[in-house]
Amino acid sequence: MQRTFIMVKPDGVKRKLIGEIVSRFEQKGFTLLQAEFMTIDREKAEYHYEEHNEKPFFGELVDFITSAPVFAMVWEGENIIEVSRTMIGKTSPTEALPGTIRGDFAFCKEENVIHGSDSLESAEREIANFFDPLKLRDGKADYNQNVRKSS
Ligand code: UDP
Repeated sequence: MQRTFIMVKPDGVKRKLIGEIVSRFEQKGFTLLQAEFMTIDREKAEYHYEEHNEKPFFGELVDFITSAPVFAMVWEGENIIEVSRTMIGKTSPTEALPGTIRGDFAFCKEENVIHGSDSLESAEREIANFFDPLKLRDGKADYNQNVRKSS
């Protein structure tokens, strides 16, 4: 079972896409462990996007992600890192396929609705940047819900 960090970016929050996104992940069978609205400070944002700190778009990316609240989440599920990246779609909306979140809702790569960790290492690092890993909900109860017998 893997965990990943998923974040509805400021444009996604403003466009009221939280429900749609949560719904897609739930319908896929993934389990929500933690969720919180937060306005990210620059320090956390710069750490989150550290791998891009030499890129020309870095400043604007940090400006954007700190500009308004995001909806940060931790999700759990089998192969969730790879599957969630497929569900999210390519970075640029010109390449993101219809049926993916970005393919269906994003207009431009600077504001592309959602972030999802791209590896186990980034997931761990990103979860720890935004949440206390020790306080994550234990999702095991959810996995048993379908086997509970009705009386
Ligand atoms: N980004 C941008 N301009 C670019 C490339 C990326 O503003 O030319 C932003 C975009 O919002 C993207 C984020 O930087 O989601 C992180 O880039 P990455 O390549 O890690 O894409 P992702 O993993 O989000 O698909």
